[in-house]
Amino acid sequence: MKSLPYFSRGEVIRGFGRGSKELGIPTANFPDSVVDNLPADIGTGIYYGWACVGNGDVYKMVMSIGWNPYYKNTKKSMETHVIHTFKEDFYGEILSVVLVGYIRPERTYNSLEALIAAINNDIEEAKMTLELPEHLKLKDDNFFTSALSPSSALPPTSASTSQTILNGH
Ligand code: ADP
Ligand code: MG
Repeated sequence: MKSLPYFSRGEVIRGFGRGSKELGIPTANFPDSVVDNLPADIGTGIYYGWACVGNGDVYKMVMSIGWNPYYKNTKKSMETHVIHTFKEDFYGEILSVVLVGYIRPERTYNSLEALIAAINNDIEEAKMTLELPEHLKLKDDNFFTSALSPSSALPPTSASTSQTILNGH
């Protein structure tokens, strides 16, 4: 996928009420304005990368890019599970992410247990793979430190370690 790593940020909105949190795996949803900016070669499936809420710490994440039921599955959705336990929900905050790599395609599962097991495998794979030096580098990208600065809507300076694409906010 030539568009990886892919940098993106936007407000955390309410999702589809699928009860991800009840499964122990809450997913922060991006609005359409962010999803609409996804390059065509970033298809549906499960991705790993880095994420930060507001100007907080940068954590590992897994993201599901899937088909949005609200649009009769013609439009993508982006849902990020940050691999960290937060004290509180962060609806309305700005979530910054970098998609680093692809794990697997989307699929359906015969049971909730099988789904949860698959997601936990994704989380383990993300945790391990992101320890590679070339991926750890992205955790320190200027993109994250500039998250809430007034210049964050401007194109990145040459100091950024890689191509930065901003959308939404
Ligand atoms: P929704 O359908 O509204 O997306 P979820 O059950 O998927 O509901 O929960 C997502 C919300 O949980 C996020 O918007 C965020 O405010 C909160 N949250 C708490 N911890 C996390 C986390 N580790 N990763 C993602 N979201 C989290
Ligand atoms: Mg969600």
